[in-house]
Amino acid sequence: MSTIPTQPTPVVQDRRRRALSDLRISVTDRCNFRCVYCMPKEVFGSQFQFLPRSELLTFDEITRLARIFVSLGVRKIRLTGGEPLVRKNLDTLIQDLAHLEGLEDLAMTTNGSLLTPDRAKALKAAGLQRVTISLDAIDDALFQRMNDVDFPVQKVLLAVDAALDAGLGPVKINMVVKKGLNDTAILPMAAYFRDRRVILRFIEFMDVGNTNGWRLEDVVPGEEIVRLIHQEWPLEPVPPKHLGDVASRYRYLDGQGEIGIITSVTRPFCQHCTRARLSPEGQLVTCLFGTHGDDLRSLVRGSASDDEIQEHLRYLWAGRDDHYSELRRSLTPGLPKIEMSHIGG
Ligand code: SAM
Ligand code: SF4
Ligand code: SF4
Repeated sequence: MSTIPTQPTPVVQDRRRRALSDLRISVTDRCNFRCVYCMPKEVFGSQFQFLPRSELLTFDEITRLARIFVSLGVRKIRLTGGEPLVRKNLDTLIQDLAHLEGLEDLAMTTNGSLLTPDRAKALKAAGLQRVTISLDAIDDALFQRMNDVDFPVQKVLLAVDAALDAGLGPVKINMVVKKGLNDTAILPMAAYFRDRRVILRFIEFMDVGNTNGWRLEDVVPGEEIVRLIHQEWPLEPVPPKHLGDVASRYRYLDGQGEIGIITSVTRPFCQHCTRARLSPEGQLVTCLFGTHGDDLRSLVRGSASDDEIQEHLRYLWAGRDDHYSELRRSLTPGLPKIEMSHIGG
């Protein structure tokens, strides 16, 4: 018998029979980090034109769209960015989203730089259920080289503790691995986070956007990461919790927790991709590697009713055929893709 969980009958399916069950909302295109694999300083320096405030969806507009997405089957919402915590009064949005009937999971991905103990408690009180914190090395000098704004690792580690103390768990840590840059940090990160009640997830460096100079040679295959850790601390695979989970799970045989591997390059998971993305200015993007989005802001700022917007979303999802990661090898060069810092992981 298969160990993969099944899904309830979907409200809407795309052309590859994938339901719409996840929504990632990027609340800003701005960030206080300049991670070298995401927002390289040469491109996102002082001259870079970020979106003016008037272009951003308001919290009311986001909540209205989110409600319509939930009516179409979305059960999980994740707030992202840019850095979501740089958007002012985010707790207000979280409060509104947390009240959406039918929503089961409300999470956030953050670099942790602004996640103080008070902020973590306030987010929890507003209705946020859990956070994923990005951290690419445990060595301070290496981490600062990666975030490229001299941000100390210690503050992110305190943010992890703050999230745990506030009950924003299970807390996950995202580590992007780039060969020759931070692959030496794989074992130290595993050593630090074993038995700390957090799930460390290794992400293969991806060819998102056009600015991070991606090369296949810079990818450390997930399988290699598992092998490396297994030699130190033996692991065994764990079945996925939900269909559409992107991480392959492994647990330490000595009971010291689990890790995840996200192999979007070497073992794509498009087949189960049930995720839509909403950009800060209200574009619907149906694939992380999309070259364009569909404008929903003009609908919410115009005279369209909720029913009309729902019908439009249904139509857009039904026409979706994205499976970029399965095609990557033949398509990568030359495609103008949306930046990761704009639509957020
Ligand atoms: N600023 C927040 C953060 O870093 O957690 C949220 C937005 S960030 C774009 C979301 C996730 O995308 C982060 O975990 C980040 O490490 C990951 N990411 C960014 N660029 C990537 C790339 N080229 N390949 C793989 N993951 C990437
Ligand atoms: Fe900012 Fe997150 Fe991109 Fe790093 S990965 S530059 S923290 S948006
Ligand atoms: Fe989903 Fe696109 Fe990634 Fe495939 S490449 S898993 S369709 S976001």
